[in-house]
Amino acid sequence: MSLHQQDSGDGGDARCGHCGATAVGPCARCRSPVCGDCCVLTEGSAKVWAVCLRCRDRGGASLHRAWLTVAWWLIAPLVVLFIFVAILANTIGK
Ligand SMILES: [Zn+2]
Ligand SMILES: [Zn+2]
Repeated sequence: MSLHQQDSGDGGDARCGHCGATAVGPCARCRSPVCGDCCVLTEGSAKVWAVCLRCRDRGGASLHRAWLTVAWWLIAPLVVLFIFVAILANTIGK
C-alpha cells in the first residue's frame, strides 16, 4: 500500500460548480464544469448537449427554443398564406 499522490493531469479534478463533486464535463452553454447529477442532457439537434441546471433554469432548453423559433418563422408565413387563400376561396365560392 503506497501513499504516493500523483497529479492526474492538469485540471483533471475539476469540481462541479453546484455541489462540488468531481465534474464530468463542461456545460455546453456557460462552460462551467458540472458533475453528472447537476447537468441535464438536451437533445436539441443531432448532438446531445450537457447543460448545467443553472443554465437550464435560466434559459430553459434554449437549444430547443432556437429550433422552435426557426420552425415558427418558417411555418408562420405558410399559415398566413393558407388563411388568406381559404378566405379568398370562400369569397370566390359565394
Ligand atoms: Zn454537481
Ligand atoms: Zn451552464
